[in-house]
Amino acid sequence: MMKTIDTDFLVVGSGIAGLMSAIHLGAQGRVLLLTKKARAESNTNYAQGGIACVMASDDSFEQHVQDTLVAGAGLCDEAVVRAIVSGGPDRIDELRRMGVDFAPDLGREGGHSQRRVLHAGDITGREVETALLRQVLHNPAITVLENCMVIDLITTGWLGLGGEQRCVGVYALNRETGEIFGVRAPHTVLATGSGGKVYLYTSNPDIATGDGVAIAWRAGLPIANMEFIQFHPTCLYHPQAKSFLISEAVRGEGAQLVDAAGRPFMEGYDSRGSLAPRDIVARAIDREMKRTGSRCVYLDVRHKSRSFLRKRFPNIYAVCRQFGFDLAKDLVPVVPAAHYFCGGVQAGLDGATAMPGLFAVGEVACTGLHGANRLASNSLLEALVCAWNLARTLADHPAGAGGRRVTIPPWQSGTAVPSDEAIVVAHNWNEVRTCMWDYVGIVRSDKRLERALRRIRMLRAEIRQYYLDYLVTADVLELRNLAAVAELIVRSARRRHESRGLHYTLDFPEADERLGKRDTVIRDKPGEHIGRQRLLMGRE
Ligand SMILES: Cc1cc2nc3c(=O)[nH]c(=O)nc-3n(C[C@H](O)[C@H](O)[C@H](O)COP(=O)(O)OP(=O)(O)OC[C@H]3O[C@@H](n4cnc5c(N)ncnc54)[C@H](O)[C@@H]3O)c2cc1C
Repeated sequence: MMKTIDTDFLVVGSGIAGLMSAIHLGAQGRVLLLTKKARAESNTNYAQGGIACVMASDDSFEQHVQDTLVAGAGLCDEAVVRAIVSGGPDRIDELRRMGVDFAPDLGREGGHSQRRVLHAGDITGREVETALLRQVLHNPAITVLENCMVIDLITTGWLGLGGEQRCVGVYALNRETGEIFGVRAPHTVLATGSGGKVYLYTSNPDIATGDGVAIAWRAGLPIANMEFIQFHPTCLYHPQAKSFLISEAVRGEGAQLVDAAGRPFMEGYDSRGSLAPRDIVARAIDREMKRTGSRCVYLDVRHKSRSFLRKRFPNIYAVCRQFGFDLAKDLVPVVPAAHYFCGGVQAGLDGATAMPGLFAVGEVACTGLHGANRLASNSLLEALVCAWNLARTLADHPAGAGGRRVTIPPWQSGTAVPSDEAIVVAHNWNEVRTCMWDYVGIVRSDKRLERALRRIRMLRAEIRQYYLDYLVTADVLELRNLAAVAELIVRSARRRHESRGLHYTLDFPEADERLGKRDTVIRDKPGEHIGRQRLLMGRE
């Protein structure tokens, strides 16, 4: 017998979006929070720069809105931008009440016309994650299950029930025991974050395999703007550093990007120099590296005193030191790396998706805030405001409204056996990521995208077979999701015949102001990409 857990609200993910959603929803009913690794493992935990919010007396919502719209390159939804920007101060007050200790000064980052980034040194994410986890763990309405990875959604359509399609729960894998269990919930919140691992070089931790986007896509949800991947210009270049991020806030304090001879080069690309928006800086670095044949460029912050650097950037200072670079004395080698997904599951300001019973909050969602490019430090803000809105919406439509008590069929393993070919997973994992880096990276072209699509589709067919032949493991589930997200990125990029925001292609180097100002939306029929269960039940 398969175990099935009943809950009022199911939240998937324990970053800022999942934890905040759980905290607010805990006031309305029982919350089950599933997270696929240790609870603090999330992109949130690694966020450095901080949270953008209008706090200073010489700043205004209007300026923050305009900065966001400019970064978004014509694709932001202005009403969404206004709502999120103006919702910020209350959410910051709330975080403070929960014990987040923000520094008294405000940070400055690229694309912001004002200092408006609230930070806790350079470990803002860790500070927020710790405070929110403290709240969650002390809340008797919330149960957290670690090492539990959601495999797929269960929808009424998938169960063969008529009427409007609705999400009624999920199948999940306990990574420690290998057990697969069901969760039945009238409301499911996807807060699964990013998919940065789809690229060979990324600032994201290992959890970022795009699960939520792939899961929603397989269930037939519309996925928007996947071509807009933000590459962070400055990750530490060192074989052992695993793309450790050097926050934009360092450039905010005057650090310059320079070549191996110590010559600043950004002025040649943009009048804002090293503090130009990230896409411009990342492309300039890419060009500079290709032009000179060098493997990295350098960050020069030697004009700042050691005591300042230690106090303002304690973590970055210490990690650089650990790899043999002294911020106060040395040029620090940096390269760009995949950092943030502007696209995702199409969702409203309250996380509502096209499917009743399913919400998407945080980086997994595409709300219209970021458009074609995210303004630095707007993402934590978005998660805070949308999680709050979600709870307000659900308070008006209490748990169970429109939901049905369905029977969840037990998970079918068919004739699957334990894998003796794990090498296939490791190999395909590397192949997807290398292919995406080489062909679908910072600078794209029609030819490269075509090549990538052919390869990714071939890999997906192989992965699908592997998924059917062998008992599921977390590794194969992640690979399956990663490959699905890769295909979504390539297909979206192929649809955009212009360069805008984070999408730059050699074949269409200019923006198309007539045709380009619309979202790229991919929505496939659920049957076409359905998971193992349905294949095994012979319904496809
Ligand atoms: C190095 C770094 C620095 C950053 N700095 C900033 C910054 O200064 N300011 C800013 O605004 N943004 C920053 N960002 C971006 C920001 O951190 C993220 O956008 C934000 O934290 C996303 O929050 P989230 O809750 O949506 O996702 P996450 O925090 O990534 O949480 C996702 C959660 O979902 C879980 N999960 C995923 N898949 C499954 C599954 N199948 N089943 C169960 N659980 C699952 C994960 O384990 C994790 O707990 C930074 C990102 C990085 C990587």
